[in-house]
Amino acid sequence: MSYQHLYLDGTSVNLPVGKIVCVGRNYAEHAKELNDEVPTEPLLFMKPSTAIVDYKNGFSIPKDKGSVHHEIEIAILIGKTLSGQVDEHTVKQAIAGFAPSLDLTLRDLQTELKNLGYPWEKCKSFDGSCVLTPFLPTTTYPDLNDIDIRFIVNGKTRQQGNSKELVVAIIPLIQYIANIFTLLPGDVVLTGTPKGVGPLQAGDQLIMALPDHSHFETHVL
Ligand code: ZN
Repeated sequence: MSYQHLYLDGTSVNLPVGKIVCVGRNYAEHAKELNDEVPTEPLLFMKPSTAIVDYKNGFSIPKDKGSVHHEIEIAILIGKTLSGQVDEHTVKQAIAGFAPSLDLTLRDLQTELKNLGYPWEKCKSFDGSCVLTPFLPTTTYPDLNDIDIRFIVNGKTRQQGNSKELVVAIIPLIQYIANIFTLLPGDVVLTGTPKGVGPLQAGDQLIMALPDHSHFETHVL
């Protein structure tokens, strides 16, 4: 795998590339646009490390599996092992960086799988389904409940949100995850997508941004 975790200044993050733990329906307005209920507890799923693709030089999407939706999400890089019940301070100390990311989703297939009551891996965890960019250092955001995220397609803003809108905020979300799946150094947590998801097409010019701090241009091959 050519992807390695990097910091925005180009220095390498001295961590392996691990799994990605994701949460569904963590912005109420997004749950509404897909006619989904907001769950009473976080709805979790995972992507393997093989799902990760670097944003640089563009990325390809599946061509023959129906619509491929973009979900822009704040990605949290985990720097220390978190397992079982962990307190807020321990979680804060374990966060190693922030980045905008894409949770690519085969939406037509997901609808089929949902209707059948089947797991989501085939629509969520395929090769190339997680686009990652370099990470901002932890000092960038003293307040984890005020992180802006934005996604621009061909010059138009398609998605924007702020972590204050999360149904389950970043720290309690990581606490909830760690109590089920041990998080290892180099794992990544995706925190959910704001409303505005939609299909990507070959040739789309994209900007993945944590506005004011990082701004990554890429495109669909
Ligand atoms: Zn998502």
